[in-house]
Order: sequence, then C-alpha cells, then structure tokens
Amino acid sequence: MMAVTESQVLEALRQVADPDRGSDIVSLKMVSGVAVKDGHVHFTLEVDPARGAALEPLRQAAEKAVDRLAGVLSVTAVLTAHRPAPKAVSGGAPGTGTPGTGAPGAGKPAKAGVPGVAAIIAVASGKGGVGKSTTSTNLALAMAANGLKVGLLDADIYGPSMPRMMGLSGKPDSADGKRLDPLVNYGVKVMSMGFLVAEDTPMIWRGPMVMSALTQMLRDVNWGELDVLVVDMPPGTGDAQLTMAQSVPLAGAVIVSTPQDIALLDARKGLNMFRRVDVPVLGIIENMSYFCCPNCGHRSDIFSHGGARAEADKLGIDFLGEVPLDIAIRETSDAGTPITIQQPDGVHAQTYRAIAARVAEKIKAGGGRAAPRFVIE
Ligand code: ADP
Repeated sequence: MMAVTESQVLEALRQVADPDRGSDIVSLKMVSGVAVKDGHVHFTLEVDPARGAALEPLRQAAEKAVDRLAGVLSVTAVLTAHRPAPKAVSGGAPGTGTPGTGAPGAGKPAKAGVPGVAAIIAVASGKGGVGKSTTSTNLALAMAANGLKVGLLDADIYGPSMPRMMGLSGKPDSADGKRLDPLVNYGVKVMSMGFLVAEDTPMIWRGPMVMSALTQMLRDVNWGELDVLVVDMPPGTGDAQLTMAQSVPLAGAVIVSTPQDIALLDARKGLNMFRRVDVPVLGIIENMSYFCCPNCGHRSDIFSHGGARAEADKLGIDFLGEVPLDIAIRETSDAGTPITIQQPDGVHAQTYRAIAARVAEKIKAGGGRAAPRFVIE
C-alpha cells in the first residue's frame, strides 16, 4: 500500500477553507502537529477558543479531506487553542475561569452507550493535585486484579498522565482502519490524549473542543468488551468538566479528595456537579489520608485524618476507603509500575482492591445513591 506523507496531508488540508476567514486552514497556520504513522494521521487545528462551538464542522471537513487520500487508514483531528499567558497562580483548575457559551445543561447531548462497554465510571476531584490520576490508575488496575475486563480513559486532557503512570508510550494503531486501538499494559486498555499529541503542546480545552476530543476517545476507540471503563476526568468542576460528565453515559462517579479539601468544600462542588447531570455518586475516596513514615512505619494524621468519612456521612454519600500519603505510591506511579502492580500483596494494593470491589458492587447494584442536594454557602 502507498504510504501517505505529511506533505500530502498538508496538500489535502489546503483544500479546506475556514469560511469565516476567507482562506484555507494551512495558509491560516491553523494546522499543527501533523503526525503520520502507518497510514494513521493525527493533527491539531489551533483555533480561537471563542469560536470553538462553530468549528466542529470545520474539524470534520478537515478529517474528511485527509481521509480521501489513498493509503489513509484513520484520521484524528482535534481542535485546540493556545493557552493564554500562564498565570503564576496556584489553585483552581485550568479552564474553569471562563464559562462556555450558554448555561451548562442547555442543549444536553444525547448519551448513547458505548457498544461492548458494560459500565463507565468517572473519577473526579474538586481540584488538581489531590491524586485523582493516581487513584484512577490504581483503581483500574485493582479492578483488573479482581478479574474484571477494564479500560482506562484519560480524559484529563489538561495534563494527561496515564502514559507515564501506566508505563505506556507510542501512538495507537488501527487494526480495522476505522478506530484506534487502545494501548495495553498490565491487562488494562488505555487511551489518552497523551498518545495523540506531544506532551508539551500548549493548549487549553473548552466546552466543545473537550467534547470532540472526549467523544473521539470514547467512540472512535476499539475498546472491545469491557466490564468497566474508568474515566479519569479533568480536575475541577467547571463548565468543561460538566460538559464531559454530561456527554458520557456514566454509571456513576467516584470523588477523590484529600482530608483538607473536603473541609474546604472542593469535593462538595464535585458532588454538586454530578447531581446536576443526574449521575449517581458511588462515593468518596480519601487520598493522602494520613502519613506513613517510610523509615519507621509510624503513622501521623497530619491532615486531621477522617474528615472525608465524617463529611461523607454528613452529605449522605458512601465512604469508599482511605489511602495514606506514602512515597512508595508516588514513586511507583512515576516509574510506570503503580503500587497495585509493584507490590500486589502489599497493604496499599489490598486497599485499592477492596475499594475496587466496593465500586464494582455498586455498579452492579445499579449505581450509588443519587448525589444529595445541598447548597454551597
Ligand atoms: P491529580 O490527578 O489529582 O492532579 P496526581 O494523581 O497526578 O493528582 O497526583 C499528584 C502527585 O501526588 C503525583 O506526584 C502523585 O504521584 C502523588 N500522589 C498521589 N497520591 C499519593 C499518595 N497517596 N501518596 C503519595 N503520593 C501521592
């Protein structure tokens, strides 16, 4: 078969005009990151975030133009926008600042299931850095260890960390020429934006762009038969997250929180978000619950441990378990062999498997309790 080249791809994209700007998308320098591998083509269209919603047809037209080339097996185009100058402010999730067009919830997309996937669950957090990705990864691996067929979708497109944590690299192939095949490690199928775009690509995702990326990772990926697909959500509870929670047919959501965040109501915002989109909350996992000294094994409750359990009780949702702050958890996921794999008989692996069993039970029972209604003062 004839190999497709990058210049052929660009040539094809020169035929695609941006209707609002009166020129083709290549001349307008909107195309970047063209990657061609064995007939699979990826590229990004850099656009003005304000035009996001209007540009989905343009994205599709660009994909079609490339798809027509001989030798092309699959095409993935994603819309991105440059991040505004980085602000030296910590806290608060990226992308939550500017609301998208219209109220979230308006024009609610239909939630079609993903064929072959029995249940999709979201792992979410009120803000970044609480260990959401670490928890998603170990939860997925623990579910697999419990005998389930598991997929892991890295929807944390602000900072995809699954390639590193799952010890995976490279670009996905497409066996059927239509859908991308997930990469597999430790028996878990993984798809991440990190496989499709360079790690240092500066980008910000807002409503519609997030939707198109997520929809593709959900539906244009050959997940096969899965008992459960774990979705690592972007941190925070802004419009982008809400849109995602809305667009995915979720069986339930798991909230990850540290003891201090739950006190600060961040996790409550997460609950509220799922309530708004009618997704049952399966429960809260308290991460970095207490500190285990790696030298003497002494346990210190540095963050007033137990806050999440009490708070979960108060909020009427279930407490799924607690995971301590342990350097071994960080080191193993940084090294691409998460603790559940690295020390399968260790105490942390046992904890994750117990949490995984609890979550699986709840999915079987038809989701958790509906998220409680409450008001944030
Ligand atoms: P998030 O997805 O919420 O941004 P990450 O999962 O990326 O958070 O975790 C942030 C950092 O904290 C990572 O370096 C991770 O290895 C570390 N980490 C997460 N959970 C634990 C834990 N229980 N003990 C020690 N380090 C942890």
